[in-house]
Amino acid sequence: MHTPSDPQTCPDSRDDWADEVRLETVRSLAEQERHTLFANIVGLFGCLVAAIMLPFDEQLFIALALRAVSIVTTRLLAIQLRAKLAAGEDFEASLRAVTYSLAFGGFTWAALLWPVIGYLEQGGFSFVILGVAIVGVSLICAMLGALPMMLFGFLASFTVSLFAGLALQPGPVSWAILLASASMAGGMIMFSMGMARQNIQMSEALVSNRRLGEDLCEALEHAEFLSLHDSMTGLKNRRAFFEVEGHLAPSGERRHILAIDLDYFKTINDTHGHAVGDRVIVQCAQVLRDFARMTPGGPHCAVRLGGEEFLLLLTGQEYVTAKAVAEAVRHRIAAIDMSYLVKGLTVSASIGFAECAPQQPLEKALLAADKALYEAKQSGRDRVMQAVPEQRAA
Ligand code: GH3
Ligand code: MG
Ligand code: MG
Repeated sequence: MHTPSDPQTCPDSRDDWADEVRLETVRSLAEQERHTLFANIVGLFGCLVAAIMLPFDEQLFIALALRAVSIVTTRLLAIQLRAKLAAGEDFEASLRAVTYSLAFGGFTWAALLWPVIGYLEQGGFSFVILGVAIVGVSLICAMLGALPMMLFGFLASFTVSLFAGLALQPGPVSWAILLASASMAGGMIMFSMGMARQNIQMSEALVSNRRLGEDLCEALEHAEFLSLHDSMTGLKNRRAFFEVEGHLAPSGERRHILAIDLDYFKTINDTHGHAVGDRVIVQCAQVLRDFARMTPGGPHCAVRLGGEEFLLLLTGQEYVTAKAVAEAVRHRIAAIDMSYLVKGLTVSASIGFAECAPQQPLEKALLAADKALYEAKQSGRDRVMQAVPEQRAA
């Protein structure tokens, strides 16, 4: 089971934790991308209108065409990434492809700004493009901040292209504009880092909640298992038998009950200790489990009622076959070899055997089996005693 401190204490778990948080971060990023298309189209349209209103500049229209290519490419690659995430497939190659596409996007934003910076002194529509670029680049940085490689790819491509482009501008570039651009880039990084922390915290909370849910399911399953099984032997317990198994009679199936009680078990405990007694109980349980699994027909059910008392409920057996199984169980218990623990320790069981006809309540057969067990004890132990004919259902 996971514990909240796992990521800090166990290296393997720390790796798993980091992987899961990263997966959630990528998933959240891929989902966010889904909602960027409309903003991208509006931004591109606004820039296009501004470009038409500005004096014709071929470079500006090429930059806008590149923006359109970048938007389409990123969208297609993000769709592929989302498909891989949804299918639970390896998404690293898709993620890399999106990273490259975003780096190309950074270049296209810079390319859009090169010609515009030349018109800034004319004011008006050039500021529309500058504004769209500032908002667009800031939002992309904020979105990518949780994945440093992506943010770095985008931002590096944008800033390097921007400054390289400005350096290559034929006209003079004012220091004021360069300083403004640098401040803008710095501000974006600070802003996106803050957003990134929030995104990562959200992913961590998601992973933490999911692990908590899984732990809870596991604990519930375990509690349910414990409520229906005997913890020492793993056999079904009394509650499972009386509340669940005992009532699952497949219609029309004949059933037989073996009430099994180990002989002189108290003496085993007193002579060799409780721990040896426990080992004997576990070995007997294994014998009964084997019979429940291997006997044809079924489903059969082996139960530890408590102490050294067991039940074996056989389903779909003829009377003669079930009786033979009871004898075989007795022999197998008598053959249990405990010499690895105590030399010369012998184990035997008395078995009461009763039939439960189809549609007959199990309780009646149980009483008959118990009575037969008592008779087996009275008549010397280590034997199978069947319920007397009038106690057998017709
Ligand atoms: P009989 O042949 O008449 O059945 O004699 P017995 O000694 O087996 O009968 P009894 O029912 O008096 O003894 C059962 C003993 O089983 C008493 C109890 O201390 C012991 N016991 C009950 N549960 C456990 C357990 O989980 N482990 C061990 N080692 N002993 C247990
Ligand atoms: Mg007993
Ligand atoms: Mg006993």
